Amino acid sequence: MSKSHLARTLREPRELVAQGLARDVDLPNLESVAARYAIAVTPEIAALINPDDPHDPIARQFIPSAQELVAGPGERADPIGDDAHSPVAGIVHRYPDRVLFKLIHVCAVYCRFCFRREMVGPGKDSALSEEAYAAALAYIRAHAEVWEVILTGGDPLMLSPRRLAEIMADLAAIDHVKIIRLHTRVPVADPERISDRMVGALKVSDATTWVALHANHARELGPNARAAIARLADAGIPMVSQSVLLRGVNDNAQALEALMRAFVECRIKPYYLHHGDLAPGTAHLRATLAEGQELMRRLRGRVSGLCQPDYVLDIPGGAGKAPIGPAYHVPQDSFGSEREVVRETRYRVTDYCGEVHMYPSS
Ligand code: SF4
Repeated sequence: MSKSHLARTLREPRELVAQGLARDVDLPNLESVAARYAIAVTPEIAALINPDDPHDPIARQFIPSAQELVAGPGERADPIGDDAHSPVAGIVHRYPDRVLFKLIHVCAVYCRFCFRREMVGPGKDSALSEEAYAAALAYIRAHAEVWEVILTGGDPLMLSPRRLAEIMADLAAIDHVKIIRLHTRVPVADPERISDRMVGALKVSDATTWVALHANHARELGPNARAAIARLADAGIPMVSQSVLLRGVNDNAQALEALMRAFVECRIKPYYLHHGDLAPGTAHLRATLAEGQELMRRLRGRVSGLCQPDYVLDIPGGAGKAPIGPAYHVPQDSFGSEREVVRETRYRVTDYCGEVHMYPSS
């Protein structure tokens, strides 16, 4: 598909069929999916999809599937338990030193595996009201332990540069807020939105801005996305990555390696590889924990340390993130020869080739 063929974002199943991105025969099921979960495929993303490849890793992330109508075991509407930690509308205060600030519920694209899929989309509340925004800001102001505010949603870069500049200034004016981090997919999904005005809006004098880019396949980091990322990096904004381990997208060593290398080439430090959350209708896109750990082991052996993300699980119910990468060291008791008394604990340390080495505990 060529970008020049599309003038606007595709939002309806019949538009996807008309563009050759979905099959006519699937239309009734896709209409059922669309009635529940938002669809958006930007011209930029459509241009990355090879419609002749039934296993295209970009299509798999954005083109709806009838499998989304199937509820998997353990799946839930609020898989990472945002609601359990929301003291006021728009704020999630799960960890002591940082809060999520959910400003809007719209995104440039809607990912089929989204962990907030029940909350994002045009049909949901699109933005915090003025009163709710003021109350959220007051909450941050009143909690001196909040060192970092993470703007998420939805995608905060869907706000206008003017509104974003106001919000950044409001947050930077709070003495104890030192870091403002924005989670976004916009540089990939709609790179033209990263204009000089947008970059200018992100820069504030009294706090440090970080941008966390969500991408899951190296092909998402094409020339337009790289140019948008460069505009952010050239402005001195440090960037980290977020990816989700997805079956059929990046669940093999080559794809994961290419993605992490592409991030580093773009001046983005790989940060998180998320295990897929238990969002409704996403079982077909989740890999297993064992597969994730094996992929991380292979990445460690093959690729520069700069390219290593943390493999993490958001514990269902709201207990937060846990690193779930493979263990390279395990304690092993050694015993005295005469009376079977434990003398010391040593560690069995496994190197990237699978060789085991012993290391003293102190
Ligand atoms: S961009 Fe983020 S919030 Fe929006 S649909 Fe994708 S995963 Fe969900």
